[in-house]
Amino acid sequence: MLEILDRITRGKGREGDIELLEELALYIRASSLCGLGMTAPNPVLSTLKYFKDEYIAHIKEKRCPAAVCRDLITFSIIEELCKGCGSCKRVCPADAIRGTRKSPHRIDKELCIKCGSCFDACKFKAILKV
Ligand code: SF4
Ligand code: SF4
Repeated sequence: MLEILDRITRGKGREGDIELLEELALYIRASSLCGLGMTAPNPVLSTLKYFKDEYIAHIKEKRCPAAVCRDLITFSIIEELCKGCGSCKRVCPADAIRGTRKSPHRIDKELCIKCGSCFDACKFKAILKV
């Protein structure tokens, strides 16, 4: 189940993964000898019950609606909101941000390692994480 979940969070989910997770969860629950094993699949079953649309978005659209899964998100700078303060540039560990003082900066997506430091550093909410 972990392998399937991991695959889904990396944008490599496949058609039928949800059904497979449900099936495995039922087998684990039915065949476990102790309470710990019986309840082990509960987190997956409850997230499937309440957040199924999230699973579908990850598998079918290769999208993370909560913007959490690193392989499925991108960072970009909203030009109109950027003040050119340079805070994002200073914290970027990949040297992926370009721009001069007081002018809009931009992120080189090829270099970005999606650490999120720029997002946390920008006081002007000019960085978009989707
Ligand atoms: S921290 Fe925000 S406002 Fe400052 S340069 Fe970066 S994106 Fe622009
Ligand atoms: S997410 Fe990290 S690596 Fe990417 S531009 Fe922002 S600070 Fe740099």
